[in-house]
Amino acid sequence: QNSMALAAAAERVAAEFEYSAQDVNRGVQEFMREMDEGLGKQGATMSQIPTYVTAVPNGTEKGLYMAVDLGGTNFRVCSIQLHGNSTFSLTQSKVKIPQELMVAKTSKELFAFLAKQIETFLKTHHNDHYVNHVEKRRRKGSLFEGTHDEEVFHLGFTFSFPVQQSGINKGTLIRWTKGFDIKDTIGKDVCALLQKEIDALDLPVKVAALVNDTVGTLMARSYTSPGKTGTLLGAIFGTGTNGAYVEKLARVTKLKKVGAGKQDVDDSTGEMIINTEWGSFDNHLSVLPNTPYDKSLDAESNNPGIQMFEKRVSGMFLGEILRRALVGLIKDPSVPLFSDEHSNQNDVHSTTNIHDNSPLWSQWALDTSFLSIASADNTAGLKNTRQTLDSDYGVSAPSAEDAEAVRLIASAVGKRAARLSAVAIAAVILSTGKLQHPTDIATTNNATLEVNEDEVVDVGVDGSLVEFYPNFEEFIREALREVEGIGKEGERRVRIGIAKDGSGVGAALIALVADRAM
Ligand code: ADP
Repeated sequence: QNSMALAAAAERVAAEFEYSAQDVNRGVQEFMREMDEGLGKQGATMSQIPTYVTAVPNGTEKGLYMAVDLGGTNFRVCSIQLHGNSTFSLTQSKVKIPQELMVAKTSKELFAFLAKQIETFLKTHHNDHYVNHVEKRRRKGSLFEGTHDEEVFHLGFTFSFPVQQSGINKGTLIRWTKGFDIKDTIGKDVCALLQKEIDALDLPVKVAALVNDTVGTLMARSYTSPGKTGTLLGAIFGTGTNGAYVEKLARVTKLKKVGAGKQDVDDSTGEMIINTEWGSFDNHLSVLPNTPYDKSLDAESNNPGIQMFEKRVSGMFLGEILRRALVGLIKDPSVPLFSDEHSNQNDVHSTTNIHDNSPLWSQWALDTSFLSIASADNTAGLKNTRQTLDSDYGVSAPSAEDAEAVRLIASAVGKRAARLSAVAIAAVILSTGKLQHPTDIATTNNATLEVNEDEVVDVGVDGSLVEFYPNFEEFIREALREVEGIGKEGERRVRIGIAKDGSGVGAALIALVADRAM
């Protein structure tokens, strides 16, 4: 009797997370509308930021490039040798940013430190290159006169803070986040700041590109993907979610309005990569699902009304959605979730097996990796889920019925996230018309028939959620098949592959294409 009440309650909650085929299609339509809107004006819900990167690699690119990544606690320096056959070798070093530099008085203190790390890296890993450069410079007496261009490392600078970009290696800092606070940097071009300190050390390095990590993911995938068609979309499903895709330059009508001069835009390919910033898709909630758990999560977050898509899709939030759903059941006296079997009292609430200091009681304390554990659990009596609840979440001796209820709801939250992810992917595929090209859809009923290489639409993905949540890709595919204009035939042409290391090889590739466009 008790266990039936629990199962029924869990099914009721899981049903709140259903996102139907009709919902998916409405979502796709609205997503396409917001993509268009963002291409036309600044300040739209979806930012659709022009990146000034106008080509994706096809795997044949060669050369030695550098990349640096300033994104939070660490500064990463690497060099990447592109072999020209979709493979590369990467050498890297990593150093923690000293706390006092994160809040330094002047930008110079921080950027001089970064340049110093680049110098150390060069001396350690590319000493020949470095010595050659210094020697030549000494003979000619000037930095660039004696240096052939091929001796200068082109560097991609991944800078994961809000910037207003106005050229491929030009962008001013809007504000610091993640614990950084150097007043003097706001409004300055961060590439120029880094270049100045590199030059002060006479290093053979040119900051060739300012890189967003999502764009890096797209580039890394395009270089390493098996086909030669080029990747359409790079998408991240990790702590946050975002996507960058290849757009027709002519459709980026707001370019004129963002202060980009003609010299800043390379129009030779007729394309430009757009950083969608889709985490803020549908902030006004016209199509996104909005359960009581989504509502309270948002209301009690530090940025209510913002990043509404991200709050339903990404790793930072899914655990918290599940936690709120579980707490809702725990607090319901008619539902015997985690109730003490050894007690016969009727008041379930007072006889729970949850410790007072259980993470289930505190905001953000349920990690999204738990959704993966529960959803994947096929052990007898859901032993894995029960053990994790016991060891990590302060629930002593949960029953198999408890674990089943948790698994049902966790799976519903995860599946909804995947179906919402499909909305974004489908909208990009449809709005770029990629399924119409290059050959018109050669429909076939033969499900086993191989898709022609030139009919493939390639999508690169990265992030723990898509990598580790069980069947995330399969749930995305299921939803893609339900989308009008994609269907079974279209879905088979979509190739989804993991793209690793966007801020390393991806950034190097952006430095490479930037160099070619100049
Ligand atoms: P980032 O996006 O910060 O570069 P990740 O791609 O590793 O890093 O994403 C981290 C996020 O993924 C965190 O929110 C974490 O809760 C979640 N996560 C970590 N492991 C898993 C897992 N096994 N299944 C689902 N989500 C996970």
